[in-house]
Amino acid sequence: MPGELLTNGNMSTDPTELVFKKDSEFAKLYSAAKKKLGTSVKKLVQGSAAEKIKILGALSDGGFDVKAHGSIKDEAKALEFKEMGNQKFRENNYGEAFKFYTQALQHCPVNLDNPGDPANKQYSIIWGNRSAALDGVGLYSACIHDIEMALKFGYPREFWYKLYKRKGHAHIKMKQYLLAREALETSLKNVGRSDIKKEKDRDNYRMRVRKQMTIFNVAKTLYNLEVYEKFDSVLADGQPEDRGLSSKLKYEEDGKDHGQIVADKEIYQEENLAAIDPYVAVVNVSGGRAGGKICPYSLEKMFSPVPCRFGSEEIFENEKARDEAAESYHKYEWSILKNLTTQGLQEKARLALRMVTLIDPKDVPAVAKIINSQEVPEDRLKMAVETFRLPVDNISEEEELLASVLGYYLLKNLCISGYVTSPAGQTDVYQLLIRAVLVAMRHTSGIQLINMPADKKGILEAEIQTDFCGYGIYPQLFKLKKYGSGENSHVIQWFSTKKMVFTSYRKIEKDSPVFLFTDDKKLSEAKAKPSDLITFRCGNDLCQNSFPLKENTKEKVITCPLDECGLKTNIWDRLRQIQKLKKDFVSGKEQLDKGDVSLAKDIFKDVIEEWDRMILRPYRELMSVEDAYVKTLICERGDRERLLVEGNQMGKIANTKKPVNVMEPNPEETEEKTISKMIEIKK
Ligand SMILES: [Zn+2]
Repeated sequence: MPGELLTNGNMSTDPTELVFKKDSEFAKLYSAAKKKLGTSVKKLVQGSAAEKIKILGALSDGGFDVKAHGSIKDEAKALEFKEMGNQKFRENNYGEAFKFYTQALQHCPVNLDNPGDPANKQYSIIWGNRSAALDGVGLYSACIHDIEMALKFGYPREFWYKLYKRKGHAHIKMKQYLLAREALETSLKNVGRSDIKKEKDRDNYRMRVRKQMTIFNVAKTLYNLEVYEKFDSVLADGQPEDRGLSSKLKYEEDGKDHGQIVADKEIYQEENLAAIDPYVAVVNVSGGRAGGKICPYSLEKMFSPVPCRFGSEEIFENEKARDEAAESYHKYEWSILKNLTTQGLQEKARLALRMVTLIDPKDVPAVAKIINSQEVPEDRLKMAVETFRLPVDNISEEEELLASVLGYYLLKNLCISGYVTSPAGQTDVYQLLIRAVLVAMRHTSGIQLINMPADKKGILEAEIQTDFCGYGIYPQLFKLKKYGSGENSHVIQWFSTKKMVFTSYRKIEKDSPVFLFTDDKKLSEAKAKPSDLITFRCGNDLCQNSFPLKENTKEKVITCPLDECGLKTNIWDRLRQIQKLKKDFVSGKEQLDKGDVSLAKDIFKDVIEEWDRMILRPYRELMSVEDAYVKTLICERGDRERLLVEGNQMGKIANTKKPVNVMEPNPEETEEKTISKMIEIKK
């Protein structure tokens, strides 16, 4: 289905899928526990949390003895990795050098609370070295990030001239000329107090920098290239930060747990109708290309990762992501992450754990108490409670058993990680963990990235390739699906990082139902009614009448039989127009083959509109145009993803179409402008 080119994947019915790897340590632990339990499985499954703890705790040598892992910080190791990085750098193998420097950063002890601490010198030098590797591979935005980190942690003054020269070079590559000039001027100023001994060598260096600066004499105007971030996910009729349903939609409920989503206003193509956040999301650990490239916190692509604050092996997109993670779940997970990996625990198990660690331990009793009631939670607990309350119907005994055993294993981990601090607190945490495992088994969605080829030739026939970069649990998704499923979805579903967005590809009249999902059963019923008819609308715009005719009809003109209408509709003329639309469709396809996605999109959209004016759906030919139109919408989003990877010299996506759009200077604003704005400087 067009709208569902991106699906949530066919999650299999095997309850262990995405919970643990086959033949893993946990698989062994699980089957051993099952064997030892023997006939008491029933007792375990039906028991209360406290009883379960008793039964599983009594299994001698049950494999539940877990250890917390300490920090990997170790200066000697850090220096070893740094030296390996230097070696690779000298061989011009920048990619490998980058990897070693990253490991050096992970191991290097650092005082994060006082970045200027002289003890941070090694740490700052490794950042500086990694920035050189990033410069080497052409990742200029990431290079600048690393240079700024080096400076933040006290990079030695006598090397500033080199660092700032590199920074200037990176800014020039990013067409950020103002920042480039500033950096190169700083480089010049620091040659005098550098480690370059001879005055002659210093002069040579200065000359080289000045030579680089001649680019500023050539450019009539200096500006900073504007850098764009994401594809637009603002809701129709909404504010930039709003989430959930657009105000153009509303739930129509009958009070008996049934209902539908309807348009509260007319909906146009390409409007974002819903955007939902996961309560919890984890990076793909079971396969795919995400490993080490996607931030485990933000699920953004990482170009210049920073190491974990606590000394685990985790790396994050930037300091902000690292610190936010450290403030919440990560302070309880960092020391046990390694256990999850050695046990072979996969995404659903990690989601279940995170569902709990995202809750402040002091809130656990409150959450445990209300998840089985109708009680309205405090605002800050709302999303957590909503997620724990997601329905988990038809649980098999196998699933119950798995939830009990896995929950117990996770509980043991949380006891050593500092999350559970008293034996009495165990029961509530365990109860939440069991529920979390069941919710994760029922409600996990894949988070997909689109792999869009730059060459669009044949894209209409090709299947869109996607990659799971992570998995998440979206508490609002259940209700959206329940109320918003119909024979054919009206939207494409895509991801803005971990936010799931639904974008319309069809006009929908006010008060009509809106389908965000395709109900396969209803779709196959609709498909079972083949039709070789074209249903022409009456030529009178105000008349609702229509005339179903064979495609090879001999009718020329039809007079509307309705008394209040009686208008003549010229069928021949309509058929001629349809021939023209078919030609337009072909030319749209040609444009798409040539790679002009936005022109193709506009052509398809116009064709659909014209067609809709003349005939009633369903009509096969119209459906293919709509499929093509949907494809262009996905192409646009996929191209953004691709540019983010390919064009990551910019770190973020730059507007490649009109890069030198220089604004008129505004004297009052000039000083306020930041990097991402374009400023014209009068020479
Ligand atoms: Zn009529």
